[in-house]
Amino acid sequence: MEKLPWGRLRGVRPSKQLHRLLDIGLDYTEAFKRMQVNEGISSEKFKLLWQVARISRPIVEESSLPDLFSVYISIPFCPSRCHYCSFPAHSLKELAIWRSRYLDTLLYEIRTAGQLTEKLQLRPYSFYLGGGTPTSLSPAELDNILSALRLAFPGTVREFTVEAGRPDTITHEQLAILKKHGVTRVSVNPQSMHNETLKKIGRCHSVEEAYRAVKQVQSSAFPVLNMDLILGLPEEDEAMVRKSVHDVLSLSPTNITLHMFSRKRASLFSEEQARFHLPDKALAAAMYRTAVGLLSPTYHPYYLYRQHGILGDLENIGYCLPETECFYNIVMIEERQHILGLGCGATNKFIYKDLSLKNLVSPKDIQTYLEKAAELCRRREHELTKAKLTVRAQSEKY
Ligand code: SF4
Repeated sequence: MEKLPWGRLRGVRPSKQLHRLLDIGLDYTEAFKRMQVNEGISSEKFKLLWQVARISRPIVEESSLPDLFSVYISIPFCPSRCHYCSFPAHSLKELAIWRSRYLDTLLYEIRTAGQLTEKLQLRPYSFYLGGGTPTSLSPAELDNILSALRLAFPGTVREFTVEAGRPDTITHEQLAILKKHGVTRVSVNPQSMHNETLKKIGRCHSVEEAYRAVKQVQSSAFPVLNMDLILGLPEEDEAMVRKSVHDVLSLSPTNITLHMFSRKRASLFSEEQARFHLPDKALAAAMYRTAVGLLSPTYHPYYLYRQHGILGDLENIGYCLPETECFYNIVMIEERQHILGLGCGATNKFIYKDLSLKNLVSPKDIQTYLEKAAELCRRREHELTKAKLTVRAQSEKY
């Protein structure tokens, strides 16, 4: 029988397990032995996990205080829908009728969550505006959301990310608004540096637009710039992956996130996949090695996660230059801090003292979200209060 590099570890977040072993003081050899016996993990994957855990550990430790929380805001609109996407992302044209009602409801959720965290005396740690494509909103809409966020959760945060995502939505006006509200990390996601691939995956922007957007972000001097690439896109080969990674490296972003392509049932691509050639396991592994090899001398892996249906049974990895790790990504993967997920399709995480957690997921469908928003706020209040009270009661016991 084929030996799987991740062994029996089927979960999305393998680094969580290693951090648990570090909590009880195991060193490299002891932790590897434990994960090899219990999970059948290979030495190669353990080495990668160890690198990730070593780099993320200080952030895991500082972010695990029970009175901290991070906020994720979902803007589920995009200029058009990419064929491989399974996020709650709706084409702006199709959903123009929902736009203003959605934003009003989101503002209500932000205000309500702000009152709740003030009442419970919790402190914000990081903000993440994702989606969708937040920069597909008009500058005035973006300004409104960010003003409401800042007002609802006052204080200094460790990091504020905006996933600009689609290069064709980024303008100087949008960037000036992000600057005004203290955004510290911007993500521009070309996915591939080949126009023919972008066309095949329905991305509706060009490589030239990615260059332009990156230069604009860099001229606005945000401390951290992330760029996402997907490896194993339809009909790409290893040489194409090499060129994409080279081109992204030539732009010197502080973070580069490598995703392996994965088939998603909710994507348009799943209907079309018969038309396109996807790499087999060996080619996917070769692409991965090439990309990782090009990044490795300079960039360090600081978070990783796995997905169902991911090519080659591999993993998605966030790389960074030293001291530019994304705090939110670590918090979200390691699940030791409350996350308030506001908006359509967002996930709330309520963490208990024993590190068990409860998830509360908002509906992905905009109409259902609008109908359920008030109920969601009530449930969030109930769950977060319960988690906070449990922490207090348990702390008294120890
Ligand atoms: S830009 Fe991102 S969120 Fe929007 S459709 Fe494409 S992949 Fe999905």
